[in-house]
Amino acid sequence: MSEVQQPTPTMPTFDADRVRSDFPILLEALPSGRRLVYLDNAATTQKPLAVIAASDDYYRHANANVHRAIHTLSQRATQQYEGARDKIAGFLGAGSRDEIVFTGGTTDGINLVAQCYARPRLGPGDEILVTELEHHSNIVPWQMVAEATGAEVVVVPIGDDGSVSLEDFKAKLSERTTIAAFAHISNSLGTVLPVADMISAAHDAGAVTLIDGAQAVAHSPVDVEALDADFYAISAHKLFGPTGFGALYGKRALLESMPPYQGGGDMIETVSFSGTTYNDVPYKFEAGTPNIAGAAAFGAAIDYVNALDLNAVFEHEHELLARATAAMQDIEGLRIIGTAPGKAGIISFVMDGIHAHDIGTLLDESGIAIRTGHHCAMPVMERFDVAATARVSFAAYNTAEDVDALIQGLGSIQRIFG
Ligand code: PMP
Repeated sequence: MSEVQQPTPTMPTFDADRVRSDFPILLEALPSGRRLVYLDNAATTQKPLAVIAASDDYYRHANANVHRAIHTLSQRATQQYEGARDKIAGFLGAGSRDEIVFTGGTTDGINLVAQCYARPRLGPGDEILVTELEHHSNIVPWQMVAEATGAEVVVVPIGDDGSVSLEDFKAKLSERTTIAAFAHISNSLGTVLPVADMISAAHDAGAVTLIDGAQAVAHSPVDVEALDADFYAISAHKLFGPTGFGALYGKRALLESMPPYQGGGDMIETVSFSGTTYNDVPYKFEAGTPNIAGAAAFGAAIDYVNALDLNAVFEHEHELLARATAAMQDIEGLRIIGTAPGKAGIISFVMDGIHAHDIGTLLDESGIAIRTGHHCAMPVMERFDVAATARVSFAAYNTAEDVDALIQGLGSIQRIFG
């Protein structure tokens, strides 16, 4: 197990309690009268009032279809929808708003790239490179296109601490690699991958890269241009935004070279039975009436995080990670799975003789919400030879008090079962 930072005796100046007060659901008393300790942020984050209000405001004051009508409500709806595109482009460091495609989330974005970029280019002998720590949504779409085209999915192994080494990645790259798809941060282990170096190595081998940024947007700074990522997929709900909405960044030339994902309204320039021409990017990939309220709410979420000091948030999460890790290492029979240096605020663990689901159920009785199971990363469970893990994951609104409640809860479980 790698060395962990010792917790600082006092928590830093970042005011997590103030952030917490922006989230109505966290202020609700549980039926037991207890305070909710929400530590399942890698699955989804809670929503601040500003995000809830943006969705409400959209339906009260702007509800109409986008791009199509000239009436006032349609203009408002279009402004909110397209305004969100500008905010997301800025947040991700994209060079142009046209490189931001709205999607239903990370899963949708990866499937779009698999079907529209990879599938037309792949054939027998071609390779798709992924790592062993991927979420199912960055495995199964590639298996599907591999099956359809005769290409092969090649897997970069992970180390005992859950890390991905650049050398192992390079060793699996070849002139047959068409696309390399990998997470920026693992949702099951917290590992931060050396993405900038991996992207550069993939480019040297002539491959295009897709980065699964579902976890990274919430836990680290992201700049797609500085990374030189070709595609970068995110979900709004991991970053205090709504579920079922997200964005795919793609370099303009690549997006322009791809056929549309789905056919329908808004993605066309002209339609006739003798032939149809398509709209420009990104609209070519946005068929049908979109999730306009989702865009408006995600725009509000980006405003919200931009108003926080993100570096202070990340530092705060690392303090919580260090505090929790140090205390968990003192609990007999508890083993942390995923100890890569520099990991993000996610801790997967198992306890001797206690099923992960029992840990989750018992903590829930104390008002502590964690995630248990395979975390949509079954190959990771197989790699570490466990059926399931319990996982805690932090966000800006978590406090030292939350960590202490968790540790107390785990201590009681250990005493009951140990
Ligand atoms: N990749 C990672 C690393 C994730 O954590 C998640 C969400 N658990 C996804 C992909 C899928 O995101 P979504 O379900 O929002 O499409």
